[in-house]
Amino acid sequence: SLSDRLTGALKDLRGKGKLSDADIDRTAREIRLALLEADVSLPVVRGFIAGIKQRAKGAEVSGALNPAQQVVKIVNEELIEILGGETRRVQFAKKPPTIIMLAGLQGAGKTTLAGKLGNWLKQQGHTPLLVACDLQRPGAVSQLQIVGERAGVPVFAPHPGTGIGGENLPAENGWVPLGVSSGDPVAVARAGIDEAVAQHYDVVVIDTAGRLGIDEELMRQAADIREATNPDEVLFVVDAMIGQDAVSTAESFQAGVGFTGVVLTKLDGDARGGAALSVRQVTGRPIMFASSGEKLEDFDVFHPDRMASRILGMGDVLSLIEQAEQHWDQQQAEEAAAKITQGELTLEDFLEQMLMIRKMGPIGNILGMLPGAGQMKDALAQVDDKQLDRVQAIIRGMTPAERENPKIINASRRLRIANGSGVTVSEVNQLVDRFFEARKMMAQMSGRMGFGPAGRRNA
Ligand code: GDP
Ligand code: MG
Repeated sequence: SLSDRLTGALKDLRGKGKLSDADIDRTAREIRLALLEADVSLPVVRGFIAGIKQRAKGAEVSGALNPAQQVVKIVNEELIEILGGETRRVQFAKKPPTIIMLAGLQGAGKTTLAGKLGNWLKQQGHTPLLVACDLQRPGAVSQLQIVGERAGVPVFAPHPGTGIGGENLPAENGWVPLGVSSGDPVAVARAGIDEAVAQHYDVVVIDTAGRLGIDEELMRQAADIREATNPDEVLFVVDAMIGQDAVSTAESFQAGVGFTGVVLTKLDGDARGGAALSVRQVTGRPIMFASSGEKLEDFDVFHPDRMASRILGMGDVLSLIEQAEQHWDQQQAEEAAAKITQGELTLEDFLEQMLMIRKMGPIGNILGMLPGAGQMKDALAQVDDKQLDRVQAIIRGMTPAERENPKIINASRRLRIANGSGVTVSEVNQLVDRFFEARKMMAQMSGRMGFGPAGRRNA
C-alpha cells in the first residue's frame, strides 16, 4: 500500500544526521513510485514530488526532528495542501432555499448521500427536502424515500407506482402536480423546488440518475437539471475505490455538467487514497464531504489533514512529530524562563527575546503570563524596526564575554562599542541600563509569581 511504501522509503532516512541531496532524490523516487502505485495520476505525482524536493532541500535543520521525521512532516504538509488545505464549507444561498444537486455514476452513492446530507443538514438546524430525480433506475425513488424516512427528512417524489415514460398525474394522486410528467427529471426538480419555497424548506437536495459509464444522455440530463435549477452547489459523488477511473470520470463530469465540490464515498473500503489526491488536483474542485459506510452516521465533512494521515498511514508518527515539536518549543521556553527567574539573562538572550516577543514566539507567550510582563511586551512591540536594528547593532558590537556578563562593560568598553556600532555612548548606556532594569524586574516578577527562586538579583 501507499503507507507501506512511504514507510519503507522513509525508514532508510532514520538515524541520519543530515539529509543529502542524494538522500532526498532517492526518497523522492520511492515516494513517486508509491504514489503511482496508489493510482495517483502522473501529473499530480510530478507536481507533488517537485514540491517535496524543493521543500526538503530548503528545509532548515530542525532541532526537534530527525531527518526522517522532517521528510514525513513535509510530505504530510504537502499532502494536506494538495488535498485542499482548509475544509470547504457548503455555500448556502442568501435567499433560501439553498439548492444542492448530486451527480455521479450509478452506484457512486448519491442516494445514500442524499439521506446522510439530509441528516447532517437537519443536525445543523436546517430544514431539508430531498427531491427524487432519478427516474431511470427501477426502485430509485422508493430507495430515496426509505433513506429519507430513516433520516427523518421529507422526500419529494413522483407518486409511487408510476413508471417512467411521461404519464401525467393528477395533483391529488401524489406530489407531482398536474401537467408535470413523472418521467421528466427536470420537471420533478422544478416542482420540488416550488414545493420547498411553498413549504419553507431551506435546503433542497436533488438526487439524480447515474449510468454505469459516462454517456451523452446522462450528461445531458444532469446538465439540463443543473440549468433548470441553478444549484448553489453541484456535488460530484465519486466512489473512492475506483482509482484512476475517478480522474477521467471527474473530468467528464466537469466538462459535461460542471460541479462545485466533490464527495468521496466508500472510504470504509480498501481505498488507496489515490483517487482523492487526483480528483481534487485535476479538477481544482474541493473535496467537501466523505462517506465511510452505509449508515447515516458514516459521514463527515472532509478533513484534508485526516485524509493525509490516512494516505500516509502514519497517524502515530505524525502525532509523535507534533509532540516532539511542541516539546522542543517548550524546552526552549523553559530554559529561557529559568534564566529569567535566576537573574541570569544575558544581553544575547535579551536581544533574542526582543526579536521573539515581536514575533510572539514561545518566550513571548511565557512572558505574557507574568503580571506586568504584558506591559513590557506592549512596550517592546512598539519599538520600531529601526530602533531594534540599533539595539541589535550595539549588542553585536560587544564581545561574547560582554554579552554573557554585561557587568564588565565599563566606560572604555562602552566607547569602543559605540564606535564599533555607529551609535553614541549615551545610546550604549541607555541600552545597558535598560537591560539591567529589565533583568531585575523580570526576576522579581517571576519570583513573586512562584515561577522559581527570586534569583540572585546580581544586577
Ligand atoms: P447511487 O447509484 O449513486 O445513488 O448509489 P447508492 O446510494 O444507491 O449506493 C450504491 C451502493 O453503495 C449501495 O449499496 C450503498 O449502500 C452503498 N454505499 C453508498 N455509500 C457507501 C459508503 O460510503 N460505504 C459503503 N460501504 N457503501 C456505500
Ligand atoms: Mg441513486
